[in-house]
Amino acid sequence: MAKKNEEVQRQPHEYFPPISFTAAGPDNASQQGALIQVRQSPQFTFAMALLAEAYARRADRILLDYTRDAVARRIFVDGFPYDLAPQDRPNGDGMLACFKKLANLNPAERRAKQEGKFGAECLGAKFSVLFASQGVPTGERVEIKFAPKKFPFATLEDIGMRDKMRDQFKSLINRQQGMVIFSAPPAGGLSTFWKVGLEAADRFVRDFVIIQPKNTTDEEIININPYSYDSVAGETPDTILPKVILKQPDTLVVPELTNPATAELLCKQVNQEGRMAITRVQAREATEALLRVLAAYKPPVEEFAKAVTMVVNCRLIRKLCECKQAFEPPPQLLQKLGIPPGRVQHLYREWQPPPPPPPDQKGKVEEPKPCPKCGGITYYGRTAIFELLEVNDAIREALVKTPQLDTLRQIVRKAGTRSIQEEGVLLVAKGTVSITELQRVLK
Ligand SMILES: [Zn+2]
Repeated sequence: MAKKNEEVQRQPHEYFPPISFTAAGPDNASQQGALIQVRQSPQFTFAMALLAEAYARRADRILLDYTRDAVARRIFVDGFPYDLAPQDRPNGDGMLACFKKLANLNPAERRAKQEGKFGAECLGAKFSVLFASQGVPTGERVEIKFAPKKFPFATLEDIGMRDKMRDQFKSLINRQQGMVIFSAPPAGGLSTFWKVGLEAADRFVRDFVIIQPKNTTDEEIININPYSYDSVAGETPDTILPKVILKQPDTLVVPELTNPATAELLCKQVNQEGRMAITRVQAREATEALLRVLAAYKPPVEEFAKAVTMVVNCRLIRKLCECKQAFEPPPQLLQKLGIPPGRVQHLYREWQPPPPPPPDQKGKVEEPKPCPKCGGITYYGRTAIFELLEVNDAIREALVKTPQLDTLRQIVRKAGTRSIQEEGVLLVAKGTVSITELQRVLK
């Protein structure tokens, strides 16, 4: 019984940094009024605690799922979901009403889609809280995002590309003529690498244009002239490409190849007009990206094989926090990872709590304190691993004659290109990432 009282008295906001809000509204008086109303709500502390906890843990997105009996709460840190303890409906409903009032929305509306935003200040930073709610068959779904989202990487170095690979990447993307393909699996970081990679190209000396769908969700890339087509109205890149080409750009950037006509047009622009083309495709490795372009967009295979010069495959991966723990790797593990014996003394793994000490006289066990930097998540920030494939004549020939994954892989490995696994093991050996995280992103 005593324990129960203690839990009730534990005010959630005491554990997280102070947070303050600015309500939305047509004028100052209504904004102040909303704020006063919200502060009087018994569930205001839950609203503060949730946003402050998420922000302090570096989350940029929160999902709340209201079902009949409970509210499931999930936050996303470095793109990875973490479940918080579920909340009971009465407190969850009160908290939701607070968010809706702050965003100048109708708390009584639980079915129709509502979107709004309000201001917040926490840990010395001011930011917007974007709020959206929508009734679903099981109840109500709420998404909360912090904005503006800070773009985490400015350069190829920031995103973790090795020195030597950076030089090779820049030299190949800045050629006069050729085709470059960016690739990653779903949630592998393709849109992030797309921006960083394109910004590493020499857009100041050469004339880059990008042909993208209207309402693209991609981040803007400076110094690339955008042209858009209306995909909703059935337009494709080749609808507007002929007009864009009249302006004689050096480099054609097409994020979605979309259809065979576009793929063929791009290959011909490379092979016959001596231009550079850059595109992207979802794939797990560079060789798969080549086959994916052939299978999905069906360019004439000889034209494609002749045009393509580089394929890069990317994978975002969470870095171990400073609280990482060193361990002596058994020889079998080193062998499995392909690390030569004697190369590394220690590898690192996620922080694990020490075995609990014996209980004190009152039978209480003191819980270990989580790391103040990561809050016990054991990861902090992200980097990426890359496979960079420079396309040679043997690969071109195989694309035309034996376009199969195994054959292509053999040729690529023979040419000395490191696989994305091997690139990942380099980061494991350095202690930047853990084996479990590498396995997660490669699975
Ligand atoms: Zn830590």
